[in-house]
Amino acid sequence: MSFVSHLECARCGARHDARQLHNLCHCGSPLLVRYHLDLVAAHLRPDMLVGRPASLWRYHELLPLDDPAHAVTLGEGWTPVLPLARLGKALGLPGLSLKDEGLNPTGTFKARGAAVGVSRARELGVREFAMPTAGNAGGAWAAYGARAGMRAHIVMPVDAPAINVREALAAGADVRLVRGLISDAGRIVARAVARHGWFDASTLKEPYRIEGKKTMGLEIAEQTGWNPPDVILYPAGGGVGLIGLWKAFAELRALGWLPERARPRLVAVQAEGCAPLVRAWEQGREESEFWPDAATVASGLRVPKALGDFIVLRAVRETGGTCVAVSDREILDAVERLAREEGLLVCPEGAATLAAAVRLRDMGWLTGDARVLLLNTGSGLKYPEVLPAEAPVLAPDAEL
Ligand SMILES: *Cc1c(COP(=O)(O)O)cnc(C)c1O
Ligand SMILES: [Zn+2]
Repeated sequence: MSFVSHLECARCGARHDARQLHNLCHCGSPLLVRYHLDLVAAHLRPDMLVGRPASLWRYHELLPLDDPAHAVTLGEGWTPVLPLARLGKALGLPGLSLKDEGLNPTGTFKARGAAVGVSRARELGVREFAMPTAGNAGGAWAAYGARAGMRAHIVMPVDAPAINVREALAAGADVRLVRGLISDAGRIVARAVARHGWFDASTLKEPYRIEGKKTMGLEIAEQTGWNPPDVILYPAGGGVGLIGLWKAFAELRALGWLPERARPRLVAVQAEGCAPLVRAWEQGREESEFWPDAATVASGLRVPKALGDFIVLRAVRETGGTCVAVSDREILDAVERLAREEGLLVCPEGAATLAAAVRLRDMGWLTGDARVLLLNTGSGLKYPEVLPAEAPVLAPDAEL
């Protein structure tokens, strides 16, 4: 049985029937899943989670499936929260920790959105879907599509990371590369779904991936003994993960599982080469503007205009957070630093959060008494091109 009550438009508040397949609201905005939280609270207590599967499905009462047996799973979620004792001490942030989403299937947190999105789509009768992607989402949705026995049509820019093309092809997806940007891929997908009747699984045009990403917040709360950190730094492209974190803590407060004051300040981190949310934040706007010539080594952050920008900005404002941009140089330095000082090979997007923590400490926005969590969204193993590979070559009989 499902505790879902309805889908609610994030902009105009219109209600939509969750038993039917939906994309955007008639006003053009993303939809949020709403639950009968009073019924969940009557049915579930935090201690009942103990001993449940070490995956995001341990929170199935707060997820949208009619029947949890319909879950399409590859073992996603329940990733570790690791203290960064050495690095935190060196930076004057002794309460620094990192949640490592690189341990998910397909190597990034996109697995969470894909697991829940694909599961719910299949439950609602979808057999075939299409989506534009900058890379990692395509890999994840192709893998979960294969697991579900669904046909996936994936359109990426021709300069998307090669690994994402390879993993989507390996999963048997119909992959097309467009000589253009993700926005061009999006227009091709929009025409194709209209012509062929496929489900449009584009980011935020599909209401259920937020629910998958929301489980990061549920886990952070449970893994900290229902005492979440003061600040969470999140690398924002479209910002779906940040919307998910915000929604998770709001639902947990409504359930009475977190004190009213437990309101982690959410920080959206972007790259200087593509920082539409940061610009909007600094100008006090409620929406971002299209960022021309978007370029950064952190390919997951290359989103020039996000459909859910107004929700991200609202979440940052409501939690007392901020938005900050860092340079590619700082990002690559942070990749190296996390590997050398903590043994963590993170993706450039995740490393951006460490670079941002340093900046915010320098600005005095972060202080040493704060418990600060970095969200590493993926494994550095998916980005071999940013890592040095030069090492001396020895003769077979050489001495060291
Ligand atoms: C997609 C992606 C992001 C950005 O995620 P959003 O939900 O679009 O903000 C960050 N890091 C990695 C590794 C990604 O693949
Ligand atoms: Zn609406």
